[in-house]
Amino acid sequence: MFTVENTTKWLHAFHEKVQANQSYLSELDSAIGDGDHGTNMARGLAEVERKLKENLFESPQEVLKMAAMALISKTGGASGPLYGTALLEMSKQVANDPQNIGKSIEAGLNGILKRGKATTGEKTMVDIWKPVVESLMAEQQLSKERIQQFVSETKEMKATKGRASYLGERSLGHLDPGAVSSGYLFEAMIDGGIL
Ligand code: ADP
Ligand code: MG
Ligand code: MG
Repeated sequence: MFTVENTTKWLHAFHEKVQANQSYLSELDSAIGDGDHGTNMARGLAEVERKLKENLFESPQEVLKMAAMALISKTGGASGPLYGTALLEMSKQVANDPQNIGKSIEAGLNGILKRGKATTGEKTMVDIWKPVVESLMAEQQLSKERIQQFVSETKEMKATKGRASYLGERSLGHLDPGAVSSGYLFEAMIDGGIL
């Protein structure tokens, strides 16, 4: 179940992981994109962190909505609107049913799919969100190892969406930066006690 406490803890942990790996995320994006993914995510999440400190929240959906708005307004790039939409859709689903974690993440995935029009196997963040949702729907426990396994599978995919698609075959052999940052998001859910 989502609560103000675990949602806050999750976002703090996500922020910390992205800050700690900011240059790594940008390096990954330099290989197949424009090298800004770490900076983009760090900027967006710094705003989330600031808003978490400044405000008191009464429900987990309020926390999620604030985070969505902060990411949309500050992150930039392709990833800002995608993460923002994901959290906004999660916020709506959590307002309806805070108990069902899998359904909430599925709502986030559907937001990403609707906005980005990617499908699985196109080497994007969808390639981690989708298997995470499928595992939760099959009531499988998600470990950090399993999350990292999904992330590493993007290495052998050819990018057909986003900037990396300009590289075609040359995108092979590289991890997708957005999949790596989404991996941090889900690991942070484990740290926050949500998963
Ligand atoms: P930009 O590509 O605009 O510089 P970022 O570097 O912040 O933005 O984000 C790149 C990441 O966004 C990619 O690694 C990929 O995971 C994700 N992404 C890009 N386009 C899409 C899309 N259409 N659907 C889902 N994810 C996408
Ligand atoms: Mg980029
Ligand atoms: Mg960019």
